[in-house]
Amino acid sequence: MDVDAGRGGALGGALPAQPGELPLTRRLRSLLSWPAADNEPVGQLVRAHRAIHAGTDPAVLRRAYTIAENMHRGQFRKSGEPYITHPLAVAQICAELGMDTTTLVAALLHDTVEDTRYTLQALAEDFGHEVAHLVDGVTKFDKAFYGKAAEAETIRKMIIAAGKDVRVLIIKLADRLHNMRTLGVRSAASRERIARKTQEVLVPLCDRLGIQNLKRELDDVVLLHLEPEEHSRIARHVHDRPGWDAYLADVVAQTKVALRRSRVDAEVAPRPRHLYSIWKDTVAGGHTVPYDLPRIMVVVDGPATDCYAALGAVHCLWRPVPGRFKDFIASPKNNLYRSLHTSVCGPKNRTVEVLIRTAEMHRSAEYGVAADFRFPRSNGAAARAEQLDWLRRVLDWEQDAADPAQFLQSLRCDLAEAQIQVVAEGRQIVLPAGATPVDLAYELGTDRGDRCLAARINGRLVPLSSELDEGDVVEIFTETDEESSLDAEVAPRGPRREWLGFVKSPHAQMQINRWFAEHSEPGISISDKVRLGRATIGLALRQHNRGLASDLPLLRLSEELGYPDLETLLVAVFDRAIEPDAVVRQLIDLVDHRQ
Ligand code: MN
Repeated sequence: MDVDAGRGGALGGALPAQPGELPLTRRLRSLLSWPAADNEPVGQLVRAHRAIHAGTDPAVLRRAYTIAENMHRGQFRKSGEPYITHPLAVAQICAELGMDTTTLVAALLHDTVEDTRYTLQALAEDFGHEVAHLVDGVTKFDKAFYGKAAEAETIRKMIIAAGKDVRVLIIKLADRLHNMRTLGVRSAASRERIARKTQEVLVPLCDRLGIQNLKRELDDVVLLHLEPEEHSRIARHVHDRPGWDAYLADVVAQTKVALRRSRVDAEVAPRPRHLYSIWKDTVAGGHTVPYDLPRIMVVVDGPATDCYAALGAVHCLWRPVPGRFKDFIASPKNNLYRSLHTSVCGPKNRTVEVLIRTAEMHRSAEYGVAADFRFPRSNGAAARAEQLDWLRRVLDWEQDAADPAQFLQSLRCDLAEAQIQVVAEGRQIVLPAGATPVDLAYELGTDRGDRCLAARINGRLVPLSSELDEGDVVEIFTETDEESSLDAEVAPRGPRREWLGFVKSPHAQMQINRWFAEHSEPGISISDKVRLGRATIGLALRQHNRGLASDLPLLRLSEELGYPDLETLLVAVFDRAIEPDAVVRQLIDLVDHRQ
C-alpha cells in the first residue's frame, strides 16, 4: 500500500474537514451525535470492556474504530467480509481478557499502519505515543524490502517492543488467535504453515506469559488445522461421554462435603481438559481411544495453607494414586503457575484428577501477565514482574545475536525446551532439560560462566559436561579473583571451546561465542598464525590461477610493504590487518613485473 508520509494528523486524511472547521471539532461533533445504540459496531466491544472496567469512557474506542473503519474501507478479508471485522474481533478478544482501554485502542488500529495509508506519526498524533508503540510493535517488516529475513526481523522487533510494554505480545496473540479462527477459508498448505508457526513461537510465548485462557483456544485451533481428523475424533469423544456429567456431579458433591467437614471454604467444579491436552496425553500414552480422566478443580477461599488442608481432605476421602502428586505451590512452573495436582482412586474405582489452588493462584493461572490489567488492585504484581524474567533474558541475547535468524533460533530453543529446576546458592534455578553445570554457571552470571572450573552435584565432584537432573543441588567453583590477580600477565582462563559441544541453553552458547569473539582466537600461537596466513595467501592465489614456487616473492613484498620480516606479514594476513586479496594482487604484480 502506498504510504503518504507527508500527511499530518490522520483525522484530516481520514475524514476531510469542512472548510474552516478543525478536524477535531468535526470529529467530536460526529461522536456526540452518534447514538450509543446496541447496533453500533463497537457496542459489543464497549459492553465487554465495561463489564470488567466499569468506569471507563468508551469515546476513545469509538474514535479508534471510526479511523480504523475509514482506513480499511474497501479492503476485504479472504472470507469476503469487510477488513474492519478483523481488528474489531482482535479488540474483542483483548476486552474479554480484561485488558485496558489503551490496549483495545491499539488492537482496533493494529493493522492500519501496515495495511493502509495511515502513518505511525499520524497515529501518534491522534492517539499518543503509548498506542503508537503498541501498534508499531505488531507491525510487520515489509517482505519486499527485507526479503527472507522479514519474518525473523519482525519477531525480534516484537520481542524488543514487548520488553518495553508487554501489551504488544497480548495484541499479537489476540491477532493470531482471530486469524487462526478464520483460517478455514485458506488453502490446506497455508493453513498448515500458519498453524505450525503458531505452534512453534506464539503458543510457547502465550504459555510463558501464563495466559492459559488464551492458550487453550490457541492449542485447540492449532490441532484443528494440523490434525483435522484427530481434532474431530477427540471432539466427538468429548461430546458423547455417557454418564460423565452425573459421575462428575457425584465427585464434586462428595468433595464439597469432605471439605466442609475439614472446615475449608472452597468452590468445587468439574474442570474439563481442552481437546489438545486430551489429544497430547492420548498420543503420549499410546492409547487407541482418547485418554481423558474426569477432573475437578478446588479453589479455596483462603491462604495457600488451605490448599494443603483441602488436599488432606481429598486424600482422606479417596486413596491417592502413587506418584501423581505434584506441588507446584512450593515449586512453581517456569511461568509461575502454582497449584496442587493429585490423582485419586475415585468412586467406582475410576481415577479422578484434582487441581487445588487459591483464588489468587487461579486468577494468575488463567490470565498470567494480563491479570495486572484485569484485576488492577489485586496483589501478585511482583510475582508477575518475575514472570517476565525470561523476556529480559531473551532481550539480553538480542544484544549478542548478530542476525535475526540466530535470534529466532535461540528464542524457539528457549521456548520449546522442557525444563528442570536445580538448587544453587540457595536459589531455585530453571534450566533447559539436559543442561550442564556450565549452563548453570552462565545462568548465575556471565563472569561465573567465563571463570567456571569445576562443579559438585549433590556433594560429588563431576565433569562439567554432566547432565543435571531435576532437584539436583549444585555447587559451581570458579577461578577466584586472587588467583588471576597473582599474575596480571595471565589473562583469565575463559571458557573452553569444547563447552560449545554440550551446553544446552542459548544463553550460555551465546556468552561463550561472545567470549571467543572478544578474545581473538586465544590458544592460537604465532606459528599457527604464520601457517594459516600462508595458507590464506595460497588459497587467494589459486583463485587467480597462480601459485608460489618459493617464498622469495613474498619476502620481497613484505620488504616493500615495510614489514620487518615475512612472518609479520603472514600474521597480518591472518589477523586481517591486510586483505589477502590485496597482498595477492601486489604479489602477482611484483612477479609479473620482474620477469
Ligand atoms: Mn491483524
